[in-house]
Amino acid sequence: MSQPISALGEFGLVRHLTGDIRPRHPSTVRGIGDDAAILRFGNATLAVTTDTMAEGIHFDLSYTPMQHLGYKAAVLAFSDLYAMNAVPRQLMVSVAVSAKFSVESMELLYQGLKHACDYYEADLVGGDTSPSITGLYISVTAVGEAVPERITYRNTAQKGDLICVSGDLGAAYMGLQVLEREKKLFKEDAGIRPQLEGYEYVIGKYLRPEARKDIFRFLSSAGLTPTAMIDISDGLSSDLLQICCASKTGCEIHCHKIPIAEPTVRTAGEFYMEPLIAALNGGDDYELLFTLPVNDYDKLIGHPEISIIGYVTAPEEGCCLVPEHGDKIELKGMGTGEQVDTD
Ligand SMILES: [Mg+2]
Repeated sequence: MSQPISALGEFGLVRHLTGDIRPRHPSTVRGIGDDAAILRFGNATLAVTTDTMAEGIHFDLSYTPMQHLGYKAAVLAFSDLYAMNAVPRQLMVSVAVSAKFSVESMELLYQGLKHACDYYEADLVGGDTSPSITGLYISVTAVGEAVPERITYRNTAQKGDLICVSGDLGAAYMGLQVLEREKKLFKEDAGIRPQLEGYEYVIGKYLRPEARKDIFRFLSSAGLTPTAMIDISDGLSSDLLQICCASKTGCEIHCHKIPIAEPTVRTAGEFYMEPLIAALNGGDDYELLFTLPVNDYDKLIGHPEISIIGYVTAPEEGCCLVPEHGDKIELKGMGTGEQVDTD
């Protein structure tokens, strides 16, 4: 009898399909299980990552401009490179596209891709195009250059390290909620004009995220090498658990230290949602989550875009969330505790 993929989930499926794969070449320094693979040829160390976006699953074209979609597809891949402490160099893009799309719409998609390549200083070096029966699929592969001793894996966080996060969290998730709400209202009454004023910040974070090139540069110029790093694509909880599971550590993070922007708090309020839930479980933030030795505290403090939200603990202490008042809560991500991710 065949088993549905949903029985395993995304992480479970990856583990099921790839658990027995062992690298055969010494040039494969790190294979499946991190934000990007690490390859070494002579003196060159490369980070390589790939991402696929499917219409109706990862994006909804009723409210996603094609330029933004192209830009975001590239940013997702660049964000994975920065999570390895690598700098983007090349991008390859494959699209499968159905007959409903025009040449002009594809031009807009490529405008977005080229704009992202300009800003992140990467060369668009190839790809593939194919017809599809329904909808649009975009697959992006990015190649980055890394300094071997500065590569940041997920499995090397150390007990006692500070847990740091860039920017603020939960905004993209709230932006998506606003877009979905307005889409629903528009479906019910096509005469209604979408009300997006006042939501520019949260919608912008969802539709047109940026990868944290600035944080990568700051870490490099300050002489800081995180002990572990990941980009937040699935939500703070899930991605922090990835680091803790891979590193075989626990963690303790403090609710009131988690950075949440005012527009996110306001929008969450309108949806009768706790902003913290959006920050913990929302995802699509593309902020960097990293751990650093306590000795680096002085170099971090005062950076306006970096928040220290907790610290790494021993595995037996578990992964905990500490509310401002009250008892610790176990940190839960998507699926089970033991996870493998390849994105
Ligand atoms: Mg990632």
